[in-house]
Amino acid sequence: MSKTVSIIIPVFNEEKNIPLLYGEVKAVISRAGDYEFEIIFVNDGSQDQSLAELKKLENEDSRVRVIDFSRNFGKEMATTAGINNCQSDACIIMDADLQHPAEKIIEFLTKWEEGGEVIIGVRNKNRSEGLIKKVGSYFFYKIINLISETKITPNTTDFRLLDRAVIEEFNKLTERNRITRGLIDWLGFRREFIYFDANKRFNGKASYSTVQLFRLAFNSIVSLSLFPLKLAGYLGVLIVIFSSCFGIFIIVTNYVTGSLYFSGTAMLAVLILFLIGVVLVCLGFMALYIANIHADVSNRPMYIIRKRK
Ligand code: UDP
Ligand code: MG
Repeated sequence: MSKTVSIIIPVFNEEKNIPLLYGEVKAVISRAGDYEFEIIFVNDGSQDQSLAELKKLENEDSRVRVIDFSRNFGKEMATTAGINNCQSDACIIMDADLQHPAEKIIEFLTKWEEGGEVIIGVRNKNRSEGLIKKVGSYFFYKIINLISETKITPNTTDFRLLDRAVIEEFNKLTERNRITRGLIDWLGFRREFIYFDANKRFNGKASYSTVQLFRLAFNSIVSLSLFPLKLAGYLGVLIVIFSSCFGIFIIVTNYVTGSLYFSGTAMLAVLILFLIGVVLVCLGFMALYIANIHADVSNRPMYIIRKRK
């Protein structure tokens, strides 16, 4: 029996792109070899005619399935729903705006057949990107790889293939505030990379504004790293050490040896600094407890076993 593959496409206001995308995907899968394909479109509360376009395809082509959200939940939820609802041996996630070239599907499948379990599309340098996006993404990857427990390869995208084993594990994750990419990276498994040139968005405009991208970046950092939480504690320890040394220095030189004179204001300043340090250290302790709660509430599995075939 031939293997089954689902192609998962989140859709938000893409009425013009849907027919083009469908045409490309259809052409590629017709020459992709002996697989049984299914195309899952997740309509993420589109305000335009996207749903009508999708329904049309669903009626014409029995391989097309449409999941229709009651409102806009965001791309992360749309891809999650697609993954949760696919029964195939593998799934390929791609954008609806033709930025992810459909012909790469064949390379994804080849790498999968060679034993890759998570195949990740990596974007080659994007000429059309603005300066803010470029600088922003540079620092984002620097920061997150410095402080987070999960390492992220720069320029990896959501254009990915997941093996059944990975899908099963992904479906067990329960956190609400999620970055699909980060979670997949966290899962591990045998990873392979495919490089592609991102085209310019074909029709419509990118629905992530700069502000939303920053929010996404902060969310990724918070959900993958506990460092910001512990920052107060580290700072507190530093301040306590510094102000204690300085305090002792003042006491000794002022009262014991009498070699230097410090004003009352200076002493007060050091005392206040010391107390602030103590408060921050206490905050750091609280952070440790909150970190534990965070880990328990996000309720990820403690470990992941690769299914033995
Ligand atoms: N998308 C979605 N829900 C949203 C925003 C976007 O399902 O709230 C889909 C969109 O239709 C596209 C993909 O997610 O298929 C990527 O969106 P976009 O091109 O806006 O993001 P970018 O290319 O900047 O990552
Ligand atoms: Mg796009």
